[in-house]
Amino acid sequence: MKKLKIKFVILPIILAVLSLLALVVGNINQKPINSEQYVNFMKDLSERKISSVYLTTSPKILVELKNNIKYETDNPRSDKFKETLLQSGVKVFEQEPIPLNTLIPMCGLILSIIFLLFYSFKSHKVTAKGLFSVDKLDANEVFNLPFSFESIAGNEEAKESVKDVVDFLKNPEKYSAYGARMPRGIILYGEPGTGKTLLAKAISAEAGVPFYAMSGSDFVQIYVGVGASRIRQLFKKAKANGKAVIFIDEIDAIGKKRSNSKGGNSDEKDQTLNALLTEMSGFNESEGIIVLAATNRLDMLDPALLRPGRFDRHIEVSLPDVSAREKILNLHLKNKPVGNININEWAHKTTYFSGAKLENLINEAAILACKDDNKYIDERHVDQAYSIVVAGYEKVNRDYIKENDRKITAYHEAGHALVSMNILPMEKISKVTIIPTSKGAGGYTLSIPEDQLYQNKSYLNKRIMVLLGGRAAEEIIFGCENITTGAYSDLKSSTSIIANMVTEYGMGDSLGLLSLQEISTLNIQSGNDILDECKALVNSLYAETKKLIQDNIEDLEKIAVKLIEKETIHEKDLKQIVFDI
Ligand code: ADP
Ligand code: ZN
Repeated sequence: MKKLKIKFVILPIILAVLSLLALVVGNINQKPINSEQYVNFMKDLSERKISSVYLTTSPKILVELKNNIKYETDNPRSDKFKETLLQSGVKVFEQEPIPLNTLIPMCGLILSIIFLLFYSFKSHKVTAKGLFSVDKLDANEVFNLPFSFESIAGNEEAKESVKDVVDFLKNPEKYSAYGARMPRGIILYGEPGTGKTLLAKAISAEAGVPFYAMSGSDFVQIYVGVGASRIRQLFKKAKANGKAVIFIDEIDAIGKKRSNSKGGNSDEKDQTLNALLTEMSGFNESEGIIVLAATNRLDMLDPALLRPGRFDRHIEVSLPDVSAREKILNLHLKNKPVGNININEWAHKTTYFSGAKLENLINEAAILACKDDNKYIDERHVDQAYSIVVAGYEKVNRDYIKENDRKITAYHEAGHALVSMNILPMEKISKVTIIPTSKGAGGYTLSIPEDQLYQNKSYLNKRIMVLLGGRAAEEIIFGCENITTGAYSDLKSSTSIIANMVTEYGMGDSLGLLSLQEISTLNIQSGNDILDECKALVNSLYAETKKLIQDNIEDLEKIAVKLIEKETIHEKDLKQIVFDI
């Protein structure tokens, strides 16, 4: 195909080059034309020897005799000259003749240029098409996905809430016979990696209908109207097939609540959202098309999306609890060579892990076992994988780390561990290390939080203190002047908790039970006292943390020394140091 195209281009190019050559050579070889005096010309004219005259406006005119001899003579430029010539029976041309050796290459050149122009126009049309195809849709339908409800462990409520949808997709007529209206749209909401996409795929697979997937961000384009056009194309494609599951991931990209401050391309977003709503109300209930959309947060979505007849069923896909985590771990270990792994214990250690993170944990463990050339995936592989998933890969080359930096890290981590063990004894610390990780931490303290539905104020305060423990230890040991950047991410996390406590959870004074988010949507100004309160809170918690460390300074020393010696210490070392057991 490509070769053929090149041939098409090469031929005219060769022709063009040859023609040009011929033109140049022809012009060089042209015999110079003799000049004759005007009187001689008059003589020839009276003797009727002249066959034609090329009469132009130039100073010379070309004369051709009947015996084919040509010469030039001066152009008299008199008004009656042409008439005189004609009366003498001379042919008069008002243009110079083009010699054949010029004419032929000229034709060749023109032809090849026309061809090349035509060709480049044609291929340009292709690129132009490519340019304007930003609105081209790349959602392909997928049939027979290798999923079923069996592929989802846990999430029983979510599965239960979509079972009727599967039935409806299989048998839409049955539902319309009862006059039952199925939701056109379903929102799946929950943290990332909890299996929303998986659930959507399972629905399509269980019902045996094609699956069309796109992400909300695919519709957000710089060009206004492109998003809307993509939506229309998506639905057209799906409808052409009859039944379908349309899945839109990250629906918040187009369906976010409109805020007071108009964002950059909000027009584009509105158009896209409107197109989606129009398309959704456009299909018939009995057609067997269902739109599933996923988002991390339901409360971010525009109420227009959630109205009846649109996305009127909302299903939470939540983080797995202990038993669900055990099921997910088992599911992903199913077809792998499993050695002695205490799955139940791992289910307990993986609080707040999403399904995706658990899958990742097992995958990393499998990779480690494979690297080890071990026959089975063992406990130690999962253990190593756990650190990798939570903290990142350990840096292998650690020679460059200065002794002083190791010391700072050791006291910093010891600070976290000490505070945690004293005020949150229920949270197991499985590991403290001063080995830096690929995620940029100088070291880390791995603690396992307890599963809990709610976090109370006292717990949040304690969490903040644990986060501040690293910086507090640094300050106590090395002095205010020598505190480091190592507390960067700790401070980010503690700030976020404090801000949420004061502005969203109703645990502060300046806003009381008001929610800042709601206040902002109403455009009520809130003053600076929120910031003051957050600052006061963090300062008092910091002072409390410092006091706690100072009261237990020997334990801090012992933990730090052990860390410098061994780089990584585990729960039992810590318990021995702090509780003497
Ligand atoms: P989301 O769409 O909620 O971000 P995904 O559906 O993309 O999450 O999940 C990513 C992966 O995590 C899945 O492909 C699956 O391997 C795993 N996973 C998540 N939740 C579960 C679950 N409940 N059971 C089994 N695997 C799960
Ligand atoms: Zn820290």
